[in-house]
Amino acid sequence: MSDKDITNGTPTYVEPAPVHHGEPNPFESMMARFDKAAEILNLEKGVYEYLQKPVKQVIVSIPIQMDNGEIKVFEGYRVIHDNILGPSKGGIRYAPDVTLDEVKALASWMTWKCAVANIPFGGAKGAVKCDPSVLSKVELEKITRRYTANMFSVFGPDMDIPAPDMNTNEQTMAWIMDTYSMHAQRTETAVVTGKPLIIGGSLGRVEATGRGVMISTLEALKKLGLEPYDVNVVVQGFGNVGSITARLLKEQGCKITGISDISGGYYNKKGIDVDAAIDHCKKNKSLKNSNFGEKITNEELLELECDVLAPCAKEDQIDKDNAPNIKAKLIIEGANGPTSADADDILKEKGIMVVPDILANAGGVTVSYFEWVQNRLGYYWDIDDVNRRHDRMMSEAFENVYETASKYRTTLRLGAYIFAIDKVAKTLVLRGIYG
Ligand code: GLU
Repeated sequence: MSDKDITNGTPTYVEPAPVHHGEPNPFESMMARFDKAAEILNLEKGVYEYLQKPVKQVIVSIPIQMDNGEIKVFEGYRVIHDNILGPSKGGIRYAPDVTLDEVKALASWMTWKCAVANIPFGGAKGAVKCDPSVLSKVELEKITRRYTANMFSVFGPDMDIPAPDMNTNEQTMAWIMDTYSMHAQRTETAVVTGKPLIIGGSLGRVEATGRGVMISTLEALKKLGLEPYDVNVVVQGFGNVGSITARLLKEQGCKITGISDISGGYYNKKGIDVDAAIDHCKKNKSLKNSNFGEKITNEELLELECDVLAPCAKEDQIDKDNAPNIKAKLIIEGANGPTSADADDILKEKGIMVVPDILANAGGVTVSYFEWVQNRLGYYWDIDDVNRRHDRMMSEAFENVYETASKYRTTLRLGAYIFAIDKVAKTLVLRGIYG
């Protein structure tokens, strides 16, 4: 079957798409790291092949009636990389340029992220190829509901549990929960995480990714012998992850000297008033027309003189071209895949510590796990409980990765991959192959 097979309504199970050579893509970027870790671990060939490919790739067609009466057909994906440690887990993104290759890469990233975070989930990712900025709320609801209905046999609290990702939010998750529940004929809160609080969401979920980035930063600073109040931090991206990272790091005493969003970058060596920037963003939808600092480009922002750089925007922001110009001592990857594989060695040579995405931004999925646990318990924790458990799990994950990296005398990125692949591979071998 070709990976382009589409069916109306019924999921299509397809073979993995071939890896395209030439243009760097997130799948190749992930595989470059995976291969290095697999080699260090001397991974058995069969296990390597198993872990390299997603177990399931589903493409659905999503026809909806637009507000103007026309029928438009969108394409939706869900890639399950594996379910070795437990049901698969991962967000759903809405983007006009999303590709199956990208979803595949993000799905395997979720496997390694869950393993690093010590949570009992496999990895998955979903997407709908659409541009939410030109869709009405009604159209978005129709897309979400039809996508969910078409994925009814894929999703499930013990099978595959979606969550928010780029351009999806609590409202999207509420529609998914409701549509799934309508088909199941019972309210099934644990089928999706990142829900609004009143319908089974968890306290702390919205802030969780930024909080995890903050904890990872503090742990890394300790290893570098730096105190939070001695460092200045530049944050790229001012969405949910970037803005909360900036706010929480400021609360810890760091000086936030640079922030950015699609409107560009802002630099202020005296420190940016992060709360005011968050307020400005809420009112104006972006940092545009603000005077929080000198106006610079997003490219210039990455190359600023600073101690900590937190790329919290999107993939492939740091590559072989700008890596030589990065001046930070520490990079904390709040986004998924912000550093391309060919930049890794350059950063290593420059002695820059990089806390990789699969560790640094694992706070989100960690609190998603708590949400799923609370849904199944029917008992909800207070915010102190959530944060305490989250902080402990993130610190433990950091320590595991740090120890693995030290043991193999390698970077934190490879340390994280080695730790994750080793754990998943050992579980796979213990479970054995059925068939
Ligand atoms: N989309 C988030 C991530 O990339 C969260 C996934 C989840 O909570 O399942 O980690």
